[in-house]
Amino acid sequence: MRATLTIDLAAIRRNWRALGARAGGAVCAAVVKADAYGLGAATVAPALAAEGARVFFTALPEEALDLRDVLGPGPEIWCFNGPCPATAAELLARGVRPLLNDPSQAALARETARAAGRAYPCGLQLDSGMNRLGLEADELAALRAGDGLAGLDLGLALSHLACSDDPADPMNAAQRAEFLAMTESLPGVPRSLAATGGVLLGADYAFELVRPGIGLYGGAPFAAAEPVATLEVPVLQVRAVRPGEAVGYGANWRAERPSRVATIAAGYADGVIRAAGNRAAAWWRGRPLPFAGRVSMDLVTLDATDAPDLRPGDAVRLLGPEQGVDALAAAAGTIGYEILTALGSRYARRYEGAPV
Ligand SMILES: *Cc1c(COP(=O)(O)O)cnc(C)c1O
Repeated sequence: MRATLTIDLAAIRRNWRALGARAGGAVCAAVVKADAYGLGAATVAPALAAEGARVFFTALPEEALDLRDVLGPGPEIWCFNGPCPATAAELLARGVRPLLNDPSQAALARETARAAGRAYPCGLQLDSGMNRLGLEADELAALRAGDGLAGLDLGLALSHLACSDDPADPMNAAQRAEFLAMTESLPGVPRSLAATGGVLLGADYAFELVRPGIGLYGGAPFAAAEPVATLEVPVLQVRAVRPGEAVGYGANWRAERPSRVATIAAGYADGVIRAAGNRAAAWWRGRPLPFAGRVSMDLVTLDATDAPDLRPGDAVRLLGPEQGVDALAAAAGTIGYEILTALGSRYARRYEGAPV
């Protein structure tokens, strides 16, 4: 048996509907950047389109162009990172709309529109306080004053919240106020501020369009999300380890009692975060089997002493009902986003719940 990643498309579709239902009438888009958070944009995006999603976001322009191949001409496709000289004309030709993040990207879009003899459908990403990507208020004002938006067909004004996973953080209201102030100068342009966390902050944050990502894929902060990913890994070998014997690289796990150690067929090359060594657990028949020692490239060793029936060929679960992406992430000292986007290419992938 090969390690198998099972992805529940029906759960993704229900998560999208559930988030949309909280968006106070705003359009609910779907963020499918980074290959739909590691779960396979070529399968996930069409499943969401069949559910009714009409607006999709990627990060890279190249991802957006690939997504256009997958989805065909209908849906709106946006890319957060904006155009670059190599992609600007193709984005325009293929109906992919970049967010413009910087005066130089706005200039590139203007030139591309002029060369093509038509307006460039695009949007503006505005920095409301995160200082990561997007136009500052003075840059926006300069563009407006100097004809810098000529030839641009603005279909979205977007900003991103830095702390939306914590509803009590004052940063949320401060960014919302800054976003309102900046978009006042763009009357009639649809606005979007909320990713998953923003949707959960309530209708004040929804504006005309919300754009959840992680919540679709079963991750925090959408606590009501249905789990999406199950990861089963086969046991290759089980051995007896005497008290005082060591396991794994660096010999940094030692048996304190007569132990059974099971070796499973996945490692950090498959996205089992190396920092999870000696911290996380796999699950078998309702019981945690703690990682014993460091994570190797292709293997993890588990303390299976309390699972005397475990045999080679059995499958343990790293992700499943007992342990979701956020629980595994917490054990590895990271976040669910990183667990998902790290999922490796060596797993057999099975999709369940495809739309009929
Ligand atoms: C990744 C991203 C999203 C989606 O965020 P989630 O927290 O996964 O819902 C939305 N907007 C921008 C700009 C992003 O980079």
